Amino acid sequence: MKTTFDKPFTQQEAIDEATIARVAEILRGGRLHRYNTLADEVSEAALLEKEYAAYQGSKYCLACSSGGYALSVALRAAGLKPGDKVLANAYTLAPVPGAIHNAGGVPVFVEIDDEWHINVSDLESKAESSGAKFLMLSHMRGHIADMESIVAICEAHNIAIVEDCAHTMGARWNGVRSGNFGKVAAFSAQTYKHINSGEGGLLTTDDPEVAARAIIMSGSYMLYGSHGAAPDESVFARVKLDTPNYSGRMDNMRAAILRGQMAQLDENVRRWNERYQVLESVLAKSVGVDVVLRRQNEEYVGSSFQFKPRLNQNGFEPLIANCANRGVDIKWFGAAEPKAFTSRYDSWRYLGEQEELPQTLGVLSRTCDIRVPLTFEPDDCRLVAEIIADECEQLAGQFQLG
Ligand SMILES: *Cc1c(COP(=O)(O)O)cnc(C)c1O
Repeated sequence: MKTTFDKPFTQQEAIDEATIARVAEILRGGRLHRYNTLADEVSEAALLEKEYAAYQGSKYCLACSSGGYALSVALRAAGLKPGDKVLANAYTLAPVPGAIHNAGGVPVFVEIDDEWHINVSDLESKAESSGAKFLMLSHMRGHIADMESIVAICEAHNIAIVEDCAHTMGARWNGVRSGNFGKVAAFSAQTYKHINSGEGGLLTTDDPEVAARAIIMSGSYMLYGSHGAAPDESVFARVKLDTPNYSGRMDNMRAAILRGQMAQLDENVRRWNERYQVLESVLAKSVGVDVVLRRQNEEYVGSSFQFKPRLNQNGFEPLIANCANRGVDIKWFGAAEPKAFTSRYDSWRYLGEQEELPQTLGVLSRTCDIRVPLTFEPDDCRLVAEIIADECEQLAGQFQLG
């Protein structure tokens, strides 16, 4: 009989008891809103901003309602005007093109390379040809591109980088934290990210004007003085009457939930990588699967795992069905219609006709993805990897890769 796996891929860890107690205290106190504080009280949201700025090593931090909201405010605060072009890697999640669209920007998609990073030479040529002044760089599934080259290209073309760090909170490239390469960065606290408050977002920057505009946009009612990692009053004085309120605040309960997890983040990064490395070591040995080994200058967070089965296109549906029968939930980015999280640039029809990106489509046609929840033990990951390897090898003969 074939082995099966029976843990859900969507199960996150429980919130710890101390955090539950703090949230209960906030609920009993009735002051859930970040600006509803007593005279000498600092809100949970402000404390989270202060602590996250310190963790990130950035001057300013804004806590807000979601990662997608943080991205769209980041673009606007960095100076995007309606109709401005925004370069963006074509492999990303739907909130990213949505954030560009929401801010009034027009995406110009850039190819990816075989290892899921933005393609640096296509970036260079589109930076030149498009005249775009913004790059929305998604570190998709935690794969960090060669940041020195990207920063050099963007500096040469006067392009502001907005980093989407939804999958790289806690990661580094050549010792520098992801999020500290561009003008502004956005992080998500949606339930499957590295910290989980159900929904939530964080924006970081070292630019005082960007920070002040983002804080006012998030809906500060001119109560920006109570923020935890904000620029001086003089900066707000320059921008406050020219900046709209696009309400998207974070409340004190979510902030308390996230503060509890910040203390665990580095340890959780270690736990994710322990699990990732088990998956990698088993799958890298399989003749049925291609695995991309991570580069040494990348300190990644292995909260998901990507691999390329050595099958032709007809083999993917059977593979996914066979793995599902054994309890292993694989997402495939090559299907004609998006399922759950697997949308592609050609599924964002509201953006209008896009130039075809053959390299991106080619890579995604073989890209499979699994979540690595911390409720899986390393031995669970071993079993998951063995099932995947077994099914890929079983199908290899029938669906030979051309
Ligand atoms: C989750 C995610 C976001 C932000 O998502 P929200 O659900 O709005 O918090 C942005 N980019 C990527 C790549 C993501 O996975």
